[in-house]
Amino acid sequence: MRRALALVLLAAACTSTSPRTAAGPTPTVPTPTPTVTSPVASPRATGFPSCTTYRAADPRRPVLTADVTVRGRKVAGTERIVFTPDLAVGQLVFRLWAAAPVPSRYGGRQAVTSVEVNGAPRASTRPSPTVLRIPWSGPAGTPVTIELGFTLTLPVGADERWGNRGSTSWFASGMPLLAWESGHGWDVEPATTQFAEASTSEEMRLDRLTVHHAAGLTVLATGGTMSRTATTLVTSAPSVRDVAVAVGRFRIALVNGPVPVTVGVTPGLADDPAEIARETAAYLRGHIARFGPFPYQHVVIAVLPDISGGIEYPGAILLSTRQDKDATLSHELGHQWFYGLVGDDQARDPWLDEAFATYSEALERGTASSYTSVLRLPRSVRGKTGLPMTYWEGRPGYYQGVYVQGAGALLRARARDPRRFDAQLRCYIAHNAHRIATPADVARDLPLAVAELRRVGALRG
Ligand SMILES: [Zn+2]
Repeated sequence: MRRALALVLLAAACTSTSPRTAAGPTPTVPTPTPTVTSPVASPRATGFPSCTTYRAADPRRPVLTADVTVRGRKVAGTERIVFTPDLAVGQLVFRLWAAAPVPSRYGGRQAVTSVEVNGAPRASTRPSPTVLRIPWSGPAGTPVTIELGFTLTLPVGADERWGNRGSTSWFASGMPLLAWESGHGWDVEPATTQFAEASTSEEMRLDRLTVHHAAGLTVLATGGTMSRTATTLVTSAPSVRDVAVAVGRFRIALVNGPVPVTVGVTPGLADDPAEIARETAAYLRGHIARFGPFPYQHVVIAVLPDISGGIEYPGAILLSTRQDKDATLSHELGHQWFYGLVGDDQARDPWLDEAFATYSEALERGTASSYTSVLRLPRSVRGKTGLPMTYWEGRPGYYQGVYVQGAGALLRARARDPRRFDAQLRCYIAHNAHRIATPADVARDLPLAVAELRRVGALRG
């Protein structure tokens, strides 16, 4: 995620073109051609390991089935998760991110209306607005089935991943999110009031996401389309760590790029969905050549009101208007590898996805020099790239300290030996695909970056 205001320093480097309105409304979303991930072009012979094969997703990852009904600001749903912990557990924990302070301030609410574990009703507690605890003990390796009923009241004007404006509704991290981190346990870090994420989740097999909506609206959501009627969309995905849903009377465009790209623009916004779809395909080609195959079957982009910048989700991006005219679109697409494929604890190690996504956009758009000068950074943020969201809470400088400073370190390291750096980065991605990475993984797999990352405080010890 990034703030539009934070892009001011890059704006001069952008080639700005006037947005055009779409040729006309498209009544239905074209169904993306079923596809498998396009193989990445073989790296040129570099003499370095190519690492083009990603580590496989955990075969025992959680399995999610969800059903939601969207009516303006109101969302009602159920979700069923089959969870096989890799450590013994003494409780089950879900995060209710739509109840975080910022959406709450704008009228957002999230309630859990029913809890069942292995088919029996269970009591639960809510020690903070974003934490749901269910008493439950179980050994490692034993599946447990959790079924939750929930409701959302979407905020209005929150500049967030939850919102409603007219016929357009959107939510991401909107369903209770299993807060497990393999090998670690439950992640219960506090929410942040920054324009940022504090969520962590392992990948899940999205067995079935059903979205019910009013006739005349279309849905853009994480996952490949399984079926569609006038009032229902069903998607599924082999392995995603969260879900985004946008419902509205979108102007739609579809481009078959490296993967199918679907863009929907909210009525009243001037953005041209076909132009954004073409730009997306072009950015994807660059990212794929650098990092490896696109991690999902397709990508959907919803251009929305009341959001500044963009917010990344697996195979889905919520974007503000005109964000294809600056670095945001390329940045959010970079997150498909850094956050999406290679996950991180976004509260503990926000730089792990933000510095790399900013690095992605800088290389793709030729703006590296905007990030590499330490002297441009405020003194107050120097050496603080590796600090968690709890440090940045209530403090200025998050964007400069984490995004810019972190990307600058990566770019300076790459400049010394680009081919070797690119090879190491591909191996970092391949080794850490489908899991939650840590700074120690970067230190192990990307040794060329270690000195620079230590210098900016991203790696410690
Ligand atoms: Zn970001």
